[in-house]
Amino acid sequence: MNAVRSEPRCWAALLREGAARLEAAGVPGAAGDARRLLAHAAGVDPGRLILLLPEDCSPEGAREFDRLIARRTLREPVSHLIGRREFFGRSFEVGPTVLDPRPETETLVVQALGADFETVLDLGTGTGCILLTLLCERRHARGTGIDLSGDALAVAERNAATLKLTSRTDLGISDWFDDVEGRFDLIVSNPPYIATSQMAALAPELRRFEPRVALEGGEDGLDAYRIIVTGAATHLSPGGRLMVEIGPTQGHAVAALFEQQGARDIHVYADLDGRDRVVTGRWSGC
Ligand code: GLN
Repeated sequence: MNAVRSEPRCWAALLREGAARLEAAGVPGAAGDARRLLAHAAGVDPGRLILLLPEDCSPEGAREFDRLIARRTLREPVSHLIGRREFFGRSFEVGPTVLDPRPETETLVVQALGADFETVLDLGTGTGCILLTLLCERRHARGTGIDLSGDALAVAERNAATLKLTSRTDLGISDWFDDVEGRFDLIVSNPPYIATSQMAALAPELRRFEPRVALEGGEDGLDAYRIIVTGAATHLSPGGRLMVEIGPTQGHAVAALFEQQGARDIHVYADLDGRDRVVTGRWSGC
């Protein structure tokens, strides 16, 4: 037999090579990404990867890691490669049809949990990360999530099932409020808010791999807010609250829309990095 038998390699060596390939391709956070991808390829919890590193790698694990590293060098997000992303301490299925849950969106969740609600509507639910987190945190609440994309809703449905929330969650296709019935104590949304002119400057992970419809908010980035804020009064219960995520420069403009539409107690809240991230307001009844 002439087959060349390669020396067994340990996982640590694979990790070093993978991180170096990502670094050479200019991927930000190369070392951390390589660790997460190696844990995924080896089928271990990332927190226990260190125990595995001295051992010889399996040929299948090495091949899978090689494929994942190659895709990451083309800037496919790690979350898409492993199919999941953490949000507010829970794991959500993600993929190319939905916006990846972001840590800054947790600011919106924290604000929403600052007052009681029994019914909540999430406009543009995507993975369902906001709606489903709120329902996990409020055991007696019921939630409605709408999205324009049926593919996104399929992801949200699977996330609801995994979190055992199906019986308290209604998911359906709607263009913002068009097919929404009833009134809600709380309306939340993380709408698309990137101005069209800024789309080309986004990181490749977003520009190439995340759904454009979830990101682009028209010429000034405010198209969705105009629709959402205008519809709030007729879809909120008396005293109900609207909370929207915003881009860091949009606080004044979105707060002004709230004011024009008769909201009270309008506040702009910053995220953990100190950037304006959430606008909230209350409608006293109509
Ligand atoms: N509601 C989802 C999130 O916050 C999706 C938002 C969107 O697609 N713009 O992640």
